[in-house]
Amino acid sequence: MSAFINLERISKSFGSFKVVDELDLEIAQGEFLSLLGPSGSGKTTILMMLAGFVEPTSGVIKLQGQRIDHLPAHRRNMGVVFQNYALFPHMTVAENVAFPLIMRGMAKAEVGERVGRAIDMVQLTPIKDRKPAQLSGGQQQRVALTRALVFEPSVVLMDEPLGALDKQLREHMQFELRELHRRLGLTIVFVTHDQGEALTMSNRIAVFNAGRIEQLASPEAIYDRPETRFVAEFIGETN
Ligand code: ADP
Repeated sequence: MSAFINLERISKSFGSFKVVDELDLEIAQGEFLSLLGPSGSGKTTILMMLAGFVEPTSGVIKLQGQRIDHLPAHRRNMGVVFQNYALFPHMTVAENVAFPLIMRGMAKAEVGERVGRAIDMVQLTPIKDRKPAQLSGGQQQRVALTRALVFEPSVVLMDEPLGALDKQLREHMQFELRELHRRLGLTIVFVTHDQGEALTMSNRIAVFNAGRIEQLASPEAIYDRPETRFVAEFIGETN
């Protein structure tokens, strides 16, 4: 079985500090994979290396068997959603979604088509002409997600995308995101430090500790059969 994304012996150091240490990871097409671990365990760095914003010190990244680690971010066909998803306040929802396409010089007709399709996919059509100030936090986060989906990416990378939302909205968005994942068959790599979130959202969870994977398994296996003391203690913190 060939993986959709391969990280092979990926390391990243900042100066003499090794943040990611010879990481091997395979991600399947259509899976929802969470990178779970405490703050500082290297999760964001891995996501940034996948996205092309941070260059690995060594190792290989492949998408569908082709090396992508030397490609710039805009040629990797990956959508990225951050926690701080700043929307442009003076632009409507549709304009916010169109902006990154216009920046890349896409023809107007195609921009319109893609924006319409993406907004429809995330069911934002009824509010497409509103400005961010007229939207709830959850709706704003959906616009940020749409801005990533408008590229029709093969992978969506998310870094604590729900971290800024209050508990109730966060749970609602977890549900929406799971639905969207299922409906669109997206491949999602999702960074979180929230055990409960990873357990409810994911097909698989990679539990990180100091730049290494302690355990990579289904939520059930992680919860019922933690393989290391670190995993047991980290997962146990939710209870
Ligand atoms: P996580 O996402 O798990 O919180 P990060 O990947 O953000 O972890 O960070 C892992 C470690 O790498 C942290 O100790 C962080 O301070 C360090 N780090 C991240 N980016 C840089 C950088 N650009 N320069 C120096 N150190 C960094």
